[in-house]
Amino acid sequence: MAPSAPTDYHPVVLDRPGLQALIDVLVADGRRVIGPTVRDGAVIYEELTQIGELPGGWGEDQGPGHYRLRRRDDDLLFGYAVGPDSWKRFLFPPVSTTWQAEVSRDGVEVAPPSEVPRYAFIGVRACELAAIAVQDRVFVQTSYPDRDYAARREQALFVAVNCSSPATTCFCPSMGSGPRVGSGHDLALTEIPDAAGSRFLVEIGSERGAAIAARLATRDAAPADREAAAAVWSGAAAAISRALPSDGLKNVLVHNLEHPRWDTVAARCLACANCTMVCPTCFCADFREAGSLSPDHAEQHRTWASCFAVDHTQLHGGSMRWTTRSRYRQWLTHKLATWYDQFGTSGCVGCGRCIAWCPVGIDITEEVSAIRATDGLTRLPAGAAP
Ligand code: SF4
Ligand code: SF4
Repeated sequence: MAPSAPTDYHPVVLDRPGLQALIDVLVADGRRVIGPTVRDGAVIYEELTQIGELPGGWGEDQGPGHYRLRRRDDDLLFGYAVGPDSWKRFLFPPVSTTWQAEVSRDGVEVAPPSEVPRYAFIGVRACELAAIAVQDRVFVQTSYPDRDYAARREQALFVAVNCSSPATTCFCPSMGSGPRVGSGHDLALTEIPDAAGSRFLVEIGSERGAAIAARLATRDAAPADREAAAAVWSGAAAAISRALPSDGLKNVLVHNLEHPRWDTVAARCLACANCTMVCPTCFCADFREAGSLSPDHAEQHRTWASCFAVDHTQLHGGSMRWTTRSRYRQWLTHKLATWYDQFGTSGCVGCGRCIAWCPVGIDITEEVSAIRATDGLTRLPAGAAP
């Protein structure tokens, strides 16, 4: 499933017409090419066939509860960070049919799963590849793999693009997930500004990527190309100041389940679930059997769900988490602490989406800092924590 490890491929350079040729090759191979584009005041991911559909010359300003597109003073095609959308929408769709059954005289026939699209994703950031690796652990590296996710993931091809212009909400370095692409890609592009707008240093991450690169008009990367790309990588890393130090964090959180900060944040939180919808790793879903007026047809639908919904933990007699305090605490402590117990990793990749898209500007890094700041004073007595 994961692209095979890079071998001794040397970086090559692609110009802008070459980027269009890359898209053409992917389309000719029968892939649906999904990439960034501007719609409704944000950069989102949609099917595209032309580089003119990319967000050329657009960047964004982001902050807690704030996201606004802005015009850049150059014409970079990938000069934005991340928007509200994520690749999760394509690998784990917000609404899907998990099965359909027809009843006949011969019994019940369950329809085979419908064919999944062969995607090629263009513009995938390092933190987003890390998020997909997190979802792989949830959906595939488990005793009960999710067939639909596994099929979509298996077929997808990843053309990553290194970040040049992180947002102030980004904190991937402290989560070990960026800003430079390290694994999980077939091809990794670095956009280098030049007189023609930009060119791309292309690093090859898999045999599949090498086969595609071989069909394009590229040239070997010169020292000047490598230096220019390195300047993009170091500039992006230097631009990120927000951090969420993870050392000892699990212990801090599980020993502070009665910290007063949970009340403070609950007084602001609207329990709107935006943070879980934009998060590229959140994976909760509702499964509902949908009947029809016809007695011989039934199907089951899966839709994204959120731990911020009061009925998410509905059991006989009521919800287990009926206060906003308990739901926010569940979200944060799962993501940053108990996720390790379940999946051996953090549930956060530091993309910052939940900060920008929280309507009241709640900042996960700030909440953790506040709890850490008084950790020694507020821990539960020994034996009281899980
Ligand atoms: S933290 Fe913000 S985005 Fe998340 S549920 Fe609360 S108000 Fe909504
Ligand atoms: S918790 Fe927030 S910062 Fe972390 S991966 Fe999810 S949306 Fe991104």
